[in-house]
Amino acid sequence: MKDYLVRGLTKNEEVRAFAVTTKNLVEEARKIHDNSPIAAAALGRTLSAALIMGDMLKNEKDLITIYIQGDGPLKQVLATANDRGEVKGYVSNPDVILPPNKEGHLNVGGGIGKGTLTVVKDYGLKEPYVSQVPLVTGEIAEDLTYYFAQSEQTPTAIGLGVLFNKDVTIAAAGGFLVQLMPHASEKTVEILERNLKGFRSVTDVYREGKTPEDLLSLVLEGLDVQFTERKEVRFACHCSREKGLRGLATLGRETLQELLTEGKEQEITCEFCGKKYIYTTDDFRKIIELLDNNR
Ligand code: ZN
Repeated sequence: MKDYLVRGLTKNEEVRAFAVTTKNLVEEARKIHDNSPIAAAALGRTLSAALIMGDMLKNEKDLITIYIQGDGPLKQVLATANDRGEVKGYVSNPDVILPPNKEGHLNVGGGIGKGTLTVVKDYGLKEPYVSQVPLVTGEIAEDLTYYFAQSEQTPTAIGLGVLFNKDVTIAAAGGFLVQLMPHASEKTVEILERNLKGFRSVTDVYREGKTPEDLLSLVLEGLDVQFTERKEVRFACHCSREKGLRGLATLGRETLQELLTEGKEQEITCEFCGKKYIYTTDDFRKIIELLDNNR
């Protein structure tokens, strides 16, 4: 099954919903970053959530970033997505290994610890929209649920999951998000709560070969969901040598002059996709010239 996302609306238009399957792209991210299972789980959950929140954006050029900063060994988890179904991300400490939590699951909450969850929406304007909440459990789905309640005043239920094969490749991954519209009736709320209570887990559904449409049909059983969008999603990084040059320029004239004097090459690795770019003294000279001309 290809990675894809669906968007749905119940017939009474009281609940909007999203579901995504991300097994392939979470596996790709795991390989790029050589992530331990707990790092791959934290990143996979965040990538799936970013894709769903990316689908809520209004314009092609808009970007959403979920940035989790905790005091646990994983330290930071970051994912950025757009409305075109592209996502990228990384965990700052990809080697973390922890014993399972008391339910016998990967201890993602323990890996992240206490800290903050920040959502940045970049609409291409001067100032991006930034909103931050404290982490609730560090398990990511609960933290995002809290974010939607606090920052967007929208009752939201979120499920995220990453399941591994015995050889620690990804067996299933994805997520869902359902949101109550302000005019939702008590009856709808009741049905939704009952469905969510009986829902096992995202990966339980996907490991059986079920689709995102099947998943939403389960969560929204009795509410007659209609699907309004289906799009493929992928891990994508648009880094380039050129963009790396611009990054080097931010080091400032003084540092660049030092590098030039030292005469050493600089290798810069893209933190999202692991691509390596080598910059030579010719590049430093060029940037310094540009900085001087733009003064
Ligand atoms: Zn890259």
